[in-house]
Amino acid sequence: MATDHVDVLIVGAGLSGVGAACHLRRHCPEKTYAVLEARDTIGGTWDLFRYPGVRSDSDMFTLGYSFRPWTNPKAIADGAAIRDYVRRTAQEYGVTDHIRFRHRVVRAEWDGGRARWTVRAHRDDSAETIELTCSFLFICSGYYRYDAGYTPEFPGTEPYAGRIVHPQHWPEDLDHTGRRVVVIGSGATAVTLVPALAERAAHVTMLQRSPTYVMALPSRDVVADALRRWLPAKAAYPVVRWKNVLLATANFQLSRRAPALARKLLLRAARRRLPAGYDVDRHFSPRYAPWDQRLCVVPDGDLFTALRTGRASVVTDTVDTFTERGVRLSSGEELAADVVVTATGLNLLALGGMTLAVDGTEVDLPGTVAYKGMMLSGVPNFAMTIGYTNASWTLKADLVATYVCRLLRHLDRTGQQVVTPLPPADGELQPIIDLTAGYVLRSVDALPKQGDRAPWRLYQNYPRDVLLMRHGRLSDEGVRFSHAGTPERRTVRA
Ligand SMILES: Cc1cc2nc3c(=O)[nH]c(=O)nc-3n(C[C@H](O)[C@H](O)[C@H](O)COP(=O)(O)OP(=O)(O)OC[C@H]3O[C@@H](n4cnc5c(N)ncnc54)[C@H](O)[C@@H]3O)c2cc1C
Repeated sequence: MATDHVDVLIVGAGLSGVGAACHLRRHCPEKTYAVLEARDTIGGTWDLFRYPGVRSDSDMFTLGYSFRPWTNPKAIADGAAIRDYVRRTAQEYGVTDHIRFRHRVVRAEWDGGRARWTVRAHRDDSAETIELTCSFLFICSGYYRYDAGYTPEFPGTEPYAGRIVHPQHWPEDLDHTGRRVVVIGSGATAVTLVPALAERAAHVTMLQRSPTYVMALPSRDVVADALRRWLPAKAAYPVVRWKNVLLATANFQLSRRAPALARKLLLRAARRRLPAGYDVDRHFSPRYAPWDQRLCVVPDGDLFTALRTGRASVVTDTVDTFTERGVRLSSGEELAADVVVTATGLNLLALGGMTLAVDGTEVDLPGTVAYKGMMLSGVPNFAMTIGYTNASWTLKADLVATYVCRLLRHLDRTGQQVVTPLPPADGELQPIIDLTAGYVLRSVDALPKQGDRAPWRLYQNYPRDVLLMRHGRLSDEGVRFSHAGTPERRTVRA
């Protein structure tokens, strides 16, 4: 078993891991690093998902990296364009050569005496286990399981003669041309799939248990188009990025402070795009307030267009059972289907499934408290990237990576080796994700907590986080800097 050492070990070569490595190159060029990636390619989410129409639902001026302008004309981009952007960024910053593919990290153990992590990874291709040591461990493993999406147990699938597919594993050979398709779900994936499939299918039915807020946005950003005509990309990009950040922040704050008004505006906008007499209350009027769950964006209202033209329809009901021909609903109606797509969500997975131990004690994840939404109480020299739930993931990923670079420089400057977050001494602890979506509720008990005040509380507010993480103090009541070998003080909350 060969062991080598790097200053920083990054886990995952998706949007976040590649971004983290680029930030290191830019701000800490003297640090050695490696990226361990379980798959055999770069891109994470944007390589894994291959279903028809796969795209972002954030604008790419905020889903793109702060340091590399998004120059594609489309503001809401398809999966392949995003994958290409991540790959090119990795190439441009010399990151690709630092990635070790097919290395699935399974465990990391901290030794306070040496101020080092020993990290173990399985190689799926050779069944070998390798060990590396690092001074700082940076987890960029995303938030869900790659091997299996979430599918509830539906009765009666055995006799069903058609095909059942999950969007996370879209079969290359599936031709839906002229077929009747039922898409079960109402989240971002379902609203993306329905108009894309409807282009060639005989008919697409979106079968939802309950509605989601759906908002149409232009796929091109006119302000960006205008600015890019006059300014170099590097100058136009931050302007458009901040314009979009402020618009999204205003939209979120309106929803939080005046949910009734936000709801009215969203439903009115949907009604305008649907045929006269359409039952908006039944199909597009959720039981929850806007932003209690993520809002679904449809570029240029493509979902509404598919519904208007009759190529697609929405049914709000529950599955009673699959039948030989399709799906029977609780109302008794049967939907005939040649293909059923279960767009029923993801399985959340913290830290890419790896386990952690600190000085011989196992880390109990739900017993830890997140510090600034990126480190864990009692876990030294460790950071993780979890993006925003109400804005583009990369906005937070960039801030986390910038903050890690600040921490590393601070340790060097002060001649210390260890940074350990502490839990809050008092106050209420809350779930780390405050959405009420099913995939969150199913797993939230297995995740770290957040506190009720800064620096342990997540405000889901990018402008506020910019001040805190880019310009705020590194030393505060929630963190301790020390030398290697210093015994840990109380780091677990009683
Ligand atoms: C279909 C879909 C659409 C989305 N659209 C948007 C959007 O429009 N806007 C937005 O903000 N967010 C969106 N998201 C969330 C999205 O996941 C993030 O935008 C972003 O891609 C996350 O990047 P990441 O690198 O953190 O994680 P991922 O993209 O999940 O990449 C994680 C990488 O880590 C690797 N990995 C995991 N565990 C291990 C391990 N133990 N060892 C080694 N490697 C490991 C994985 O193989 C993968 O390559 C979407 C998610 C999905 C599923």
